[in-house]
Amino acid sequence: MNNLGNDVGPADASEMDCVDFLRRVDELLDVDDDMWDTRVRRHLMDCPPCRVFLEQLQDLRELLRAASTQDLVPPDDPRIAAIMSLSSSKEIGPK
Ligand SMILES: [Zn+2]
Repeated sequence: MNNLGNDVGPADASEMDCVDFLRRVDELLDVDDDMWDTRVRRHLMDCPPCRVFLEQLQDLRELLRAASTQDLVPPDDPRIAAIMSLSSSKEIGPK
């Protein structure tokens, strides 16, 4: 849970791939987008599928936030599973 600080630093020079990106997507949703490191931004600029995927997750998160106050969407809502499975079925891969 506390790996946010460990990833910044010398590794900045290397390219991030889609797998790295997907691994970190949870963190990205938790922080403001100006907290994202340059590798993340660069990857998003180069990789439209990941950008779309992230947007979908952000939408979902909005939905959950709105719903949690109204108690409409349980944490195991099928829509969440649907979005999560999208990431694996969509064949996001290194170019
Ligand atoms: Zn990607």
